[in-house]
Amino acid sequence: MRKEKLEEDIFVFVGEVYQANATALVRGDEVLLVDGLASREDAGELCNFIEDDLRKQVRLILCTHYMSDHTAALRLFPRAHIVAHKAYPHTFNSQKSLSEEERASFVQPTIEISDGAVIRWGRFTLDIFYNPGKTLSSLNVDIPEADLLIVGDEIFGNTVFLSSAGVPEMFFRAISRLQSRGRSRVIPGHMGVFSGQSLDNAKSYLGSLQAQVEAARSSAGVALRIGGRPRGLATRARPLRVAGKSASSSLRAAFRASRAARCLASLELLALRGCFLRSA
Ligand SMILES: [Zn+2]
Repeated sequence: MRKEKLEEDIFVFVGEVYQANATALVRGDEVLLVDGLASREDAGELCNFIEDDLRKQVRLILCTHYMSDHTAALRLFPRAHIVAHKAYPHTFNSQKSLSEEERASFVQPTIEISDGAVIRWGRFTLDIFYNPGKTLSSLNVDIPEADLLIVGDEIFGNTVFLSSAGVPEMFFRAISRLQSRGRSRVIPGHMGVFSGQSLDNAKSYLGSLQAQVEAARSSAGVALRIGGRPRGLATRARPLRVAGKSASSSLRAAFRASRAARCLASLELLALRGCFLRSA
């Protein structure tokens, strides 16, 4: 596990599994933890560092979203309150395939919130706000004193991780809300600390992907209109020919374009997953 001391009282941990992030905010002998890493081993190392090396106790754990790649440490701090959005069951149960270890990491939160909350923790004022993007239960944190946003999986580095969870429109709105905070440091759900520019980059990525998908869909639609058999000509004996091409070749082109449109997002997802797995 990688550890980064962002400030004297802010530590960022990047786990070996999925490079999941956790953030520790120190107040005297106590720690407020944001997110809990993805594996038992990473969580154990985090626990040892906080309790044995720093000699602190975790009092509060804030979950940006209740997915198993961020909840491994919840069981290790039984005296800590766990804060989550009230829609957390929807998020946890929407995960399609969970390992035994991931299922076992589930702990019911002790504090559920909806629109947001403010927590004063030492010199920090945590503005916790509801920001549905990757999930319907996403909570993000704005910490003005640290010029820092903690944003869960609303961005994935400089991109967005499109999967069965979340839709592009929700990501757009979530990132826009984050941009309006104007912070220069961002901690997403994975891969450590990024600059505020990462929000702009992620939005550009989404915009570029949207343009490519719309272009592919549009070309598929044109091809289908050209190649499709018009009404009233259904009984023509000869194949319809358009601009020297048979209807069947136009249809093949339409099929290729349509398939390209369907596959674009999938390819992006696979590419990201490849990156995800390689970096894990
Ligand atoms: Zn995640």
